[in-house]
Amino acid sequence: MFRVMIEPSKYDSVAKAVNKAFELFPLDLHGKNVLIKPNVLRSSEARESIVTNPAVLLAVVEKVEAMNPASIVVGDNPGIFSYGANEESFEKTGLMEASKGYYRNIGNDAVNVQFNPAFAPSVSVSRAVMESDVIISLPKFKTHGLTVMTGAIKNSYGFLPGAQKARLHKSAGNPLRFHEVIVDVFNLRVADFFIVDAIVGMEGNGPAGPDLREIGLVLASNNAVALDAVIATMMGCDPGRLRFLQKAKELGIGDYDLAKIQVVGDLKPLLDFKLPPLGGEAIFNNQAIQNAMLTKTMLRPHADPNLCTGCGSCVDQCPVSALSMSDVVPEADPEICITCFCCQEICPEQAMTLS
Ligand code: SF4
Ligand code: SF4
Repeated sequence: MFRVMIEPSKYDSVAKAVNKAFELFPLDLHGKNVLIKPNVLRSSEARESIVTNPAVLLAVVEKVEAMNPASIVVGDNPGIFSYGANEESFEKTGLMEASKGYYRNIGNDAVNVQFNPAFAPSVSVSRAVMESDVIISLPKFKTHGLTVMTGAIKNSYGFLPGAQKARLHKSAGNPLRFHEVIVDVFNLRVADFFIVDAIVGMEGNGPAGPDLREIGLVLASNNAVALDAVIATMMGCDPGRLRFLQKAKELGIGDYDLAKIQVVGDLKPLLDFKLPPLGGEAIFNNQAIQNAMLTKTMLRPHADPNLCTGCGSCVDQCPVSALSMSDVVPEADPEICITCFCCQEICPEQAMTLS
């Protein structure tokens, strides 16, 4: 039997719901390396509810601190409109302050892992993801134009730094295959615990739309499929219709059948909740989003020979070893570069730009 908590909460007292979540799903964090991953889709204000609210992150960080872990890292890889703006995204949303000094740019260091060859032979995943003992994922209760909802499974898509997210969108080719991609990414390293910010959620044209919804709940589970099934049900959507939940079940990651989920709390569909179109057209037919994706995917680093001193820092620190020195300036292998912007960030001479 899977288990999902649904607990009434507000941002100014969210620590109570977070404590209850840890009581219902005990975790031994003593001496462990813990990664806390909020949903930081892009640089935005907290009141826009595009990202996990800082109050939720702060409550989780303080709870984890008290459990004597060996280390805590708070990080995410923001999506297409904020590649290269990791710090800025955390600062603007208030998540940097809520991280209490544990923030790291997890896009700066990655490991290459095998992937589903139907989409890509390999992907680069933030090292912090693959090497953490425990991952606590903090999704936001939101709709999504491509996957209908973004919850526990979709939050792990941020394990991929840089433009890989857009490239996989492209190689998926259609919404149903994209549903499958997000499960394959999730399955690279299944997170251990999920606490969902459903205090203020989003309906309509998510994941960055204007239709906010006061829900007043915190959800939690140690199983992403069961948790996403509960979120879908609250949104008024039959979880069994969602391809990403079907695939997750096929892979044995969990089950969306409500008969197999013990709900601790009150599970009720939200009245007149506005779903996006179920076929994914909201994103696949949106030319502005498709153009932005293509443009960002095509960006490549170029070093200005008048500024570059040939120090080699960018070559050493490229997370996927895409750079090598050629004559006096570094050059990127376009097949390997994941457009993570790290070389631009770390260049001491501001010689590197992505264009
Ligand atoms: S870090 Fe900057 S200065 Fe150093 S090699 Fe790279 S581009 Fe040149
Ligand atoms: S070349 Fe630059 S942008 Fe490309 S992957 Fe390496 S560090 Fe990132």
